[in-house]
Amino acid sequence: MKVAVVGIGAVGSAACRFLAEAGHTVVGFERFEIGHGFGSSHGESRIIRYAYPEAHYTKLMGQAYPLWEALEQAAGEELFVRCGGLFFGPKDHPELASMQQALEINGVVHQLLSAEEVTERYPALVLHPNEAALWQSDAGFLRAGAVVRAQARLAQKAGAELRENTVVESLDALESFDHVIVCAGAWANTLFPEQPLPLTVTRQQVTYLAGELPGYPVWIDAESYWYGFPSDGRIAGVKLARHIPQVPFDQERLDRPTQKSDDDAALAYAATRFPSLGQDVTHHASCLYTNTPDESFVFDHPRPKVTRVSACSGHGFKFSILMGRLAADAATK
Ligand SMILES: Cc1cc2nc3c(=O)[nH]c(=O)nc-3n(C[C@H](O)[C@H](O)[C@H](O)COP(=O)(O)OP(=O)(O)OC[C@H]3O[C@@H](n4cnc5c(N)ncnc54)[C@H](O)[C@@H]3O)c2cc1C
Repeated sequence: MKVAVVGIGAVGSAACRFLAEAGHTVVGFERFEIGHGFGSSHGESRIIRYAYPEAHYTKLMGQAYPLWEALEQAAGEELFVRCGGLFFGPKDHPELASMQQALEINGVVHQLLSAEEVTERYPALVLHPNEAALWQSDAGFLRAGAVVRAQARLAQKAGAELRENTVVESLDALESFDHVIVCAGAWANTLFPEQPLPLTVTRQQVTYLAGELPGYPVWIDAESYWYGFPSDGRIAGVKLARHIPQVPFDQERLDRPTQKSDDDAALAYAATRFPSLGQDVTHHASCLYTNTPDESFVFDHPRPKVTRVSACSGHGFKFSILMGRLAADAATK
């Protein structure tokens, strides 16, 4: 079959690779260069984890993990850093309880740790006596920008034609294809003026603070939604960000500004949880969330022969390879 893929970010690069490796004729279109910094998939790291308050996401990750492992092998480079994950909050926090339940239902091995046990393992992290943590060893981070580049490279190796700096203005221009997959991220609505989705695009900032935290896991604070990483070995410092949609942002703007107030908020949070980290901001960057009202993903067929897919709402990278796989299947089966 002849399939067009609009948008070569995390989902699109995966779809192009799966389609090309299955022997289909694939043309991918990308409005910027592959790996650009205007969308949602650039940068060094995205958390991957089974631990979710919703058991269906934990179950879906059971399908995504083998795909990530196979990608890493095919690419011949480290794309997944398996440092484990720590999810902490007040002992009676409902999200910790539902995460534990989701892991149990899906048979994922994990450990519940007291604040004292966490301090013993990770002395740089301050937990209070009324707090607890879930530890899960399969968590870690994906090297986001490298993932997109590797998938695009493998897609091309399998015969896909990827056209960079090419904006698809209308789906009518793609009528010669048997199927079109639209995975346009923050631009998801622009090709469907008659069937817009209730999406809000927001600018999100990540801040790196001086320090390394060697041997530490990725972590999420269930109460405040701050989360972070150990050193990624590429950018100096350790990365922190907050998983709360910030102010709406026009994706058509050709700048992605950063704000001192966001860095200050990261510093203030780190002072309470990681007081040994330095007070220097070593790096910061902005990235776009595309939010649905319920933080779920989009996967639908708004027209015959068209699949619209988006790994949305600020937590989709870990699922993006599976979304690409499912979109490729929807287009061809
Ligand atoms: C700060 C931040 C932190 C995050 N942290 C995590 C995390 O820890 N774990 C996690 O799992 N997820 C995380 N996410 C979410 C995750 O990164 C995104 O869900 C994912 O990258 C979205 O991928 P995508 O392919 O849908 O979009 P994108 O990668 O943005 O791809 C869409 C592409 O389509 C192109 N395009 C759009 N319109 C057109 C057109 N008309 N013609 C041609 N090309 C077009 C765009 O240029 C873009 O390259 C985070 C996101 C952000 C911003």
